[in-house]
Amino acid sequence: MKAISVLGSTGSIGTQTLEIAEEFPEEFKVVALTAGKNLDLLLKQIKVHQPEVVALPEETNVLKLRDLLNDLDLTDRPKQLPELFSGLEGLEIAASWEPADIVITGIVGCAGLLPTLAAIKAGKDIALANKETLIAAGPVVLPELKRSGSRLLPADSEHSAIFQCLQGTPWAENARLSTGIPTPGLRNIQLTASGGAFRDWSTNDLRKVTVEDATSHPNWSMGRKITVDSATLMNKGLEVIEAHYLFGLDYENIEIVIHPQSIIHSMIELADSSVLAQMGWPDMKLPILYAMSWPNRIATPWKRLNLAEIQHLSFKAPDTTKYPCMRLAYSAGKSGGTMPAVLNAANEEAVALFLKEKIHFLNIPKLIESTCEKHINELRLDPNLSDIIYVDQWARKEVQELAQKNVRQFPK
Ligand code: NAD
Ligand code: MG
Repeated sequence: MKAISVLGSTGSIGTQTLEIAEEFPEEFKVVALTAGKNLDLLLKQIKVHQPEVVALPEETNVLKLRDLLNDLDLTDRPKQLPELFSGLEGLEIAASWEPADIVITGIVGCAGLLPTLAAIKAGKDIALANKETLIAAGPVVLPELKRSGSRLLPADSEHSAIFQCLQGTPWAENARLSTGIPTPGLRNIQLTASGGAFRDWSTNDLRKVTVEDATSHPNWSMGRKITVDSATLMNKGLEVIEAHYLFGLDYENIEIVIHPQSIIHSMIELADSSVLAQMGWPDMKLPILYAMSWPNRIATPWKRLNLAEIQHLSFKAPDTTKYPCMRLAYSAGKSGGTMPAVLNAANEEAVALFLKEKIHFLNIPKLIESTCEKHINELRLDPNLSDIIYVDQWARKEVQELAQKNVRQFPK
């Protein structure tokens, strides 16, 4: 039985993690939860999972949650009410909660960075969904992992696929768990991409994109930010940087291939030119479960893959002209240091502006590119945590100012 702490329990990753815990009560016990503002859902989760501790960023929401818990009928009330905490400190307490064996990081964006670092410092195993943490702060996270012995187990489906393929190689014993050191025998990675909401749209059609269009994914049901990232293909670009830090490969050896069916979740090429792929229906529960249960496999009654039913798997090269975000991510990754943090923060801010209908979809990459270009002369190659937090804040402000000032250059 593993005790789990779920950060971002009310989101897409968080709710799926809790569904897994509910389905396999002999394997997992929930001891800590954090959420944002969805108190109704959080209350339901507390009743079902009876965690020891719950944390929320805002003190006012903690007070509201305390009232909701006290108002519960005795029949409905958990035997032991959870300890409640607020603010960053509260999130860090839940992330490093002593009884937890593994922490599932389902907070979206760089807001997950400090809680994830707290979990790493406490030596927890991390089921990493919150990719933005590693992308923005790889140079800070990797040494912390080494210091504490904490392991990053990828929950992102592509990285889980690569990790699963590595288990089957003669190098499995040495397969690195995110030390940033090259994995022996691993020559190349191919990350598969569904192509996002606009894979069948022409460049001209992209001028007409609405928020509703960009938040509907053809294959995966996910939170709004990552769904927009999938539509711009920035998600794949961010995953290239994530793979670089997780598996220690140079950017030349991390490729993207469009695979609309999302059945192959990614592939690795080994030193002898053999290629291994991991397959399954596009269901995030599989990679989340593997990260939670590694190195074991848990038998599930879930829908089994039937290739005869699917019949065709297709592949094509990505179009970097139509989707500039991939090029920007490779470039930021190769620059290294603080540049991925700037790319990530600029993207988070630009996507937030798009979701508020303040900028057009096509302006997302333009704002990111201008911000990254402006950072080149300030680039720090060996940043510490303060540098990362500083450039994150700077990039967000820069995007806001650019979007306001250059109305003509960045029309709505
Ligand atoms: P989501 O928007 O559905 O959920 C985000 C969760 O984080 C919610 O519980 C929310 O309350 C919480 N949260 C948001 N802002 C917060 C803040 N400032 N402080 C504390 N908590 C906050 O997002 P999601 O789709 O579940 O994605 C979560 C992470 O997992 C992202 O980093 C995403 O890239 C990654 N990921 C998601 C999927 C997926 O299928 N959803 C797949 C791969 C990777
Ligand atoms: Mg992914």
